[in-house]
Amino acid sequence: MAEKRDYYEVMGVPKNASDDEIKKAYRKLAKKYHPDLHPGDKVAEEKFKEVNEAYEVLSNPEKKARYDQFGHAGVDPNFGGGPGGSPFDADIDLGDIFNSFFGGGFGGTRRQNPNAARRGSDAETSVYISFQEAAKGCKQTVSYEKIDVCSSCGGSGAKKGTSAKTCPTCGGTGQIHVSQRTPFGVMQTTRTCDHCGGTGRVIDSPCPTCSGTGHVRQKKTLEISIPAGIADQQVLNISGQGNAGTHGGPAGDLHVFVSVRSHPIFERRGFDVWCEMPITFSQAALGAEVVVPTIDGKVSYQVHEGTQPGDIFKLRGKGIQKLGSRGRGDQYVRVTIEVPKNLTEKQKELLRNFDDSANDKNYQNRKSFFDKLKNLFD
Ligand SMILES: [Zn+2]
Ligand SMILES: [Zn+2]
Repeated sequence: MAEKRDYYEVMGVPKNASDDEIKKAYRKLAKKYHPDLHPGDKVAEEKFKEVNEAYEVLSNPEKKARYDQFGHAGVDPNFGGGPGGSPFDADIDLGDIFNSFFGGGFGGTRRQNPNAARRGSDAETSVYISFQEAAKGCKQTVSYEKIDVCSSCGGSGAKKGTSAKTCPTCGGTGQIHVSQRTPFGVMQTTRTCDHCGGTGRVIDSPCPTCSGTGHVRQKKTLEISIPAGIADQQVLNISGQGNAGTHGGPAGDLHVFVSVRSHPIFERRGFDVWCEMPITFSQAALGAEVVVPTIDGKVSYQVHEGTQPGDIFKLRGKGIQKLGSRGRGDQYVRVTIEVPKNLTEKQKELLRNFDDSANDKNYQNRKSFFDKLKNLFD
């Protein structure tokens, strides 16, 4: 095959010629070598073809750019001949060419070894627990799906009694070498073996259980310990209970999303527990020993004389176990006062008598309110 002439040389224009200059040169040359003007002239016919080919590339900005960068190899799929042809063939990775030329580190990433041990990915599941279980810690059985090593073939992917054999295409190396005509000359490039996917091994009779993958997806149940103090929406990480790794790599982790159900009485704020407790009008006025619910059970508490609605008392250390540290939060009890309803005549009479005896000393808030009111209007 004769050496291909440079397109700019064919057109008789400099490399930095403008589009207009190229177009003008083409018109001139096309006219000069047009077959109609040179019937039977083989040389003129070749020249005419050559000019057209050059113009087709140089008049197309995209092709021109490739030609400027890579020469004929950049635009002609047949340039160089042989299988593969142009370096722009889809199955040749330009990065590979650059890597083999510059010893890597040139844009392309180095291929991962397909036989390398790789850690499995993490699996996920969720669990619902009660307020009490979160406060005290508990054991729970969770079920989830994960990828496990196939027990039929032990992860080899080959049917029982058979084994994977060395890939005949690459001889077990997982890579094949290709001679490639490139813009930089003929070059040896290496690519992953298509036959074995780079593993160097092929399985003739795949394991029917896992279809040759060596892995199966299966349901699993696991008993987990949920630590005291865990909060709603926290995620527990259970090491090594996730998806199986490949080629002997470790398994991933299991992430357990914990949801804590709300409690009818208790509300959690950090590690403290809050609740609202109604007491009677006379308990508040006289003071009383009341029974208070806590997450540990009932405790008694002395409500002092003259307790007001909205007063808050604290039970130290009756809150939630602090996760990952010592000590517990506190419990706060907000008092509400229930005004008695459905009074009998006798009860009403007693209250009226009480009211008649009451004075400003008994109702200080009320007195100061009306004092302020008086100041406002006087
Ligand atoms: Zn299997
Ligand atoms: Zn192979």
